[in-house]
Amino acid sequence: MLRIKSRCWRCGEVALAIEDIILVEHGDGDGTFYVFTCYGCGDPQAYPADPRFVDFMRMNGREPIILSPPIECKEAEKNPPLSWDDLLDLHLQLESDG
Ligand SMILES: [Zn+2]
Repeated sequence: MLRIKSRCWRCGEVALAIEDIILVEHGDGDGTFYVFTCYGCGDPQAYPADPRFVDFMRMNGREPIILSPPIECKEAEKNPPLSWDDLLDLHLQLESDG
């Protein structure tokens, strides 16, 4: 059986079956990651996947899952970040409402 070597942050080197690995591609172009659950400790692991690894997985019939961020994320990018003044205003508003 085909084995792929990776690392667990706790157990060190682990050998995985191709079926143990899930490719996850960010729909907004932030790259592709591979995730698996370590069979030694049970911890979930996630690492960036380079394009050659993505090609290798695709050649073996493992297509990435595409994650699309909710539309609210895109809308929020247009708004300025919260400032201390915004937080103080919120605090005063909450106090006056109570
Ligand atoms: Zn582990």
